Amino acid sequence: KLPQVVIIGRPNVGKSTLFNRLVGQRLALVDDQPGVTRDRRFGSAGLLGLEFEAVDTAGWEDDEPESLPGRMRAQTEVSLKGADAALFVIDARVGLTPLDEEIGRWLRGQAVPVIVVANKCESTAGDAGIMEAYSLGMGDPVPMSAEHGEGVADLFEALLPLI
Ligand code: GDP
Ligand code: MG
Repeated sequence: KLPQVVIIGRPNVGKSTLFNRLVGQRLALVDDQPGVTRDRRFGSAGLLGLEFEAVDTAGWEDDEPESLPGRMRAQTEVSLKGADAALFVIDARVGLTPLDEEIGRWLRGQAVPVIVVANKCESTAGDAGIMEAYSLGMGDPVPMSAEHGEGVADLFEALLPLI
């Protein structure tokens, strides 16, 4: 059985784009607009001798994007159960939002190793967001651009010791 890596974060940070990048197939829907409820999607990913099953979540695709309703949280709790690691995706161009911080607090209480992914870093517009991501206290964030395919090898390297 492959180790399982679940992709978590608020809407629109690029979770599904990252999933597609890792899995290499268009298995997950990518939408410009938050608010579309989608199922979890599974696909196998591999690089640098590391293979895992990636899980795309839609846990916070809600009509109140800055809230964290219990049922959404419950759905993500289910996704996290049995996962070997979590990728906590933030939008580095936007920086940390209150919802990012809330998700971070919640994730720190879970018994799963977490890598913070600072996405949308294809230009210097993400630099401040990378610095902010350190303040989550979850280790060095991995800057990447899921859309442009930058930083994927760094992400695998960060995952190697965890799974
Ligand atoms: P999700 O709601 O977290 O699953 O986010 P999506 O993967 O659906 O992406 C939301 C939006 O962000 C889409 O318009 C994507 O094209 C865009 N996006 C995703 N990754 C990147 C990236 O690395 N750079 C930029 N500039 N945009 C991105
Ligand atoms: Mg998505």
